Amino acid sequence: MPACCSCSDVFQYETNKVTRIQSMNYGTLKWFFHVIVFSYVSFALLSDKLYQRKESVISSVHTKVKGIAEVKEEILENGVKKLVHHVFDTADYTFPLQGNSFFVMTNFLKTEGQEQRLCPEYPTRRTLCSSDRGCKKGWMDPQSKGIQTGRCGVYKGNQKTCEVSAWCPIEAVEEAPRPALLNSAENFTVLIKNNIDFPGHNYTTRNILPGLNITCTFHKTQNPQCPIFRLGDIFRETGDNFSDVAIQGGIMGIEIYWDCNLDRWFHHCRPKYSFRRLDDKTTNVSLYPGYNFRYAKYYKENNVEKRTLMKVFGIRFDILVFGTTLKYVSFVDESHIRMVNQQLLGRRLQDVKGQEVPRPPVDFTDLSKLPLALHDPPPTPGQPEEMQLLREEATTRPRDSPVWCQCGSCLPSQLPESRRYLEELCCRKKPGACITTSELFRKLVLSRHILQFLLLYQDPLLALDVDSTNNQLRHCAYRCYATWRFGSQDMADFAILPSCCRWRIRREFPKSQGQYSGFKSPY
Ligand code: GDP
Ligand code: ZN
Ligand code: ZN
Repeated sequence: MPACCSCSDVFQYETNKVTRIQSMNYGTLKWFFHVIVFSYVSFALLSDKLYQRKESVISSVHTKVKGIAEVKEEILENGVKKLVHHVFDTADYTFPLQGNSFFVMTNFLKTEGQEQRLCPEYPTRRTLCSSDRGCKKGWMDPQSKGIQTGRCGVYKGNQKTCEVSAWCPIEAVEEAPRPALLNSAENFTVLIKNNIDFPGHNYTTRNILPGLNITCTFHKTQNPQCPIFRLGDIFRETGDNFSDVAIQGGIMGIEIYWDCNLDRWFHHCRPKYSFRRLDDKTTNVSLYPGYNFRYAKYYKENNVEKRTLMKVFGIRFDILVFGTTLKYVSFVDESHIRMVNQQLLGRRLQDVKGQEVPRPPVDFTDLSKLPLALHDPPPTPGQPEEMQLLREEATTRPRDSPVWCQCGSCLPSQLPESRRYLEELCCRKKPGACITTSELFRKLVLSRHILQFLLLYQDPLLALDVDSTNNQLRHCAYRCYATWRFGSQDMADFAILPSCCRWRIRREFPKSQGQYSGFKSPY
């Protein structure tokens, strides 16, 4: 074709000519490339989604309990026992509680007409006396109901007890009524409203959506989205008998797990409800079983202040809201990191399989920022840190580590049962040496010198006072460990420390009082 401009060139049209060849080799090759491209695209999409950050939720809970109970109460009227019927409604049996909890009274003991005066104590081994010599003026102990006057008075018949200045008559020491007075509370229902917010995604939703039939009752399989729960059904789910628990009271957890995929394409976000008995049902009678408290209603009669004292037994329901959160774990005997993204309720981290993600490559330039880590710190005078450390190691090695521990250095968790799984994690998948015995652990994670340096590096004017220093050093040590073992900051924030490391760090920088709070999601 002449490469010149002529009028006829303008009116030309070019197209490719397709040739179809019947060839086994070319055909196979073509499909081979198609498959490769398709797999790559799917992989890229999926693996990208793996890094979609999942975080915990900010949540608000509101509850409404409904139901009426008829209570047969025995009362004393002019010395005669009488049976009266009372109708209890919501205001009578629920009490305001703090936080995401509500309380339903199931049983009670009532002491009526108490007023401030002198009277003999209720007879117990502690209060019985035979003469004034057995009582001591001004005496009281945490179990007394009043202050002793020093006299020994007649309680009833020939029973004598020390006289006290107190709210009289003194509350009798009695067993909770059997069956429970509000046994029928098992038919009460509670409506739970839960609004949640995933902060990172600017996404808000709630469990009661428009169009939801609000006359329903929750059923695990037939009506799993219904937000109205019959109290008796909750107990049936956990294998407990409502009537038994109602006598002494108890604590029940209602867990709302938001299983959300906030991906734009596969968007779904619905709550899953489950229940968990939270009080210790196996403790025997002497160890304060159940759940009870006292409260009083005050009134005035003939200008005398009086009160009705109630010892209330009942069930406290704690509502626990969880959201999908990614967590990362790393075992010393594995080259990859595991990402855990499933409903974890009740399953210990050590046994969760998770997804393997590659460990981020070590950035050696980072190491140069830690020059101190590579040299031993000069010994602080009067504080032979290193020696103290070795001695401690030898003497306080836990002898019986939990069953899931493969390194022999883990300890049971102190967290409440619903969060315990988070701390049931060892540094290893298979039996062997513990990472806390490594030289690097001591140098990078436990060195007071380096941790102090890092804290001051962040905040040069930080006042390291004695009280809070240990807490700051401990939290810094957790971060050091996570950054060391997980590399990227993204993962370190959601990395869970193995129990052995956690407790080794806590032993080095202990908290002066109270329990350790454990992992909290950074969001
Ligand atoms: P506290 O000092 O009494 O609050 O209790 P801890 O010694 O358990 O420290 C709590 C702080 O350390 C919180 O900010 C937690 O998020 C953090 N922390 C505790 N355990 C872990 C963990 O396994 N991984 C991470 N990344 N942080 C943790
Ligand atoms: Zn272990
Ligand atoms: Zn270990």
